[in-house]
Amino acid sequence: MTNYVAIHGHFYQPPREDPFTGQMPREAGAEPYHDFNEKITAECYQPNAQAGNFDRISFNIGPTLIAWLAHYQPETYERILQADRIYHSLHGTGNAIAQSAHHTILPLARQRDKHLQISWGIASFQHRFQRQPRGLWLPEMAVDLATLSILAQLGLSFTLVSEEQVRGDLRLGAGPYRVRLPGGGYFAVFVRDRFLSNELSFDMDHIADGRRWLDWRLRGRSGLTLIATDGETFGHHHRQGTQLLTDMLKAQPDVVYRPIALSHYLLTHPPTIEIEINEQTAWSCSHGLARWDTGCSCTPGDHQWKPVLRSALDLLADEIDAIYQYEMRRLMTAPWLLIERYIEVVLGRIDPLTLTRELTHTRLTSEQTRRVAQLAQAQLHRQRMFTSCGWFFEKLDRPEPRYVIAQAMRAIDLVKQATLVDLGPNFREALSAARHTQPGPTSGRPIQSAADLYDEIYQRRADSRLA
Ligand SMILES: [Zn+2]
Repeated sequence: MTNYVAIHGHFYQPPREDPFTGQMPREAGAEPYHDFNEKITAECYQPNAQAGNFDRISFNIGPTLIAWLAHYQPETYERILQADRIYHSLHGTGNAIAQSAHHTILPLARQRDKHLQISWGIASFQHRFQRQPRGLWLPEMAVDLATLSILAQLGLSFTLVSEEQVRGDLRLGAGPYRVRLPGGGYFAVFVRDRFLSNELSFDMDHIADGRRWLDWRLRGRSGLTLIATDGETFGHHHRQGTQLLTDMLKAQPDVVYRPIALSHYLLTHPPTIEIEINEQTAWSCSHGLARWDTGCSCTPGDHQWKPVLRSALDLLADEIDAIYQYEMRRLMTAPWLLIERYIEVVLGRIDPLTLTRELTHTRLTSEQTRRVAQLAQAQLHRQRMFTSCGWFFEKLDRPEPRYVIAQAMRAIDLVKQATLVDLGPNFREALSAARHTQPGPTSGRPIQSAADLYDEIYQRRADSRLA
């Protein structure tokens, strides 16, 4: 039995653009580059693309990151798309898989948001790779059965989880295994080797020769081993990672293993053994999803701000949705279809006014059309405000909570332009209960609560308007 290994890279960056201008601000710490997307491209995306590593790994690229690459790094972008085409031409299936749109922790999201995040992720993949995706990466591998059911409904075949997120007979290594869905039927999951994935991600500095390390670790195995990690491990987190990956993937007669992509492996190895998933778990937190909700012990310090920020955003989402439904009630029979299809606007395939006109059943004035389009765009930013990075770290006074609050403020701004309803004061009030209690270096003026972040973004916007 052949000894296969799939090395899967999850490539992703949070939405760093200012949601008011669409511009990427200059970021401290990224020097000599303008921002971290540029820096990480130079250290990771570009060298891995040039080395041909995307041709042999299994990978996903977050839809927001690939949109940025398409715009700012077209050569690297094209080379990555080409990698999937090369794999497809050799093996009858590509090696890229989709990712849900905005790195939302899907088990914590509402049903409609889960569905939207996944369907937007599929649409983005189709737009970029010009084919149907077979698998989809769940942000943080956060999983529950409701999410798997939507993946199955939307025509996907598999996802990835980590071994500590499942229970059952794992004698097939990475599998694939099948998970029974509540509504009937099954969904396939590949199970990553936690030890090897972590050794590669966090102890790479102790690995002198990638090929020898992998040869040694996989000797005596059969079936499939899955090593899944952040793609930025290769070149950004570890400078030598690009070369190490090239060495591991090189086809050589004397190595014991054979690299393969997950989609490819699934073609000839349909799942037979049934296992169960531990719902509400993630690869970075196998004990639950509190890290992105109430706070968990993996990150030290006071987490009081986390649930407050989340409930402030939940409340705002309710208000934005209520306004949307109220405003649309006479204009559209299927208001959520407009949001489902709004990804086409994001991808530049249609302009928002044309899409709005296409889906309305009465003839709208140009003023009405403009307002509908603004409310639809508010829904886009309402989705982006649940990006998981906002809650990942222990401190409130970091760039990531600012990203999600800025997205919320952009949604508020669009609702106000469309309806004159200002959701800002209530939202700011809710944020003021998210207190900052951790001392340490701050990125600007010391802050007391998340309301200070709101004020900071508000002020920055006022300043840029005057400038
Ligand atoms: Zn945790």
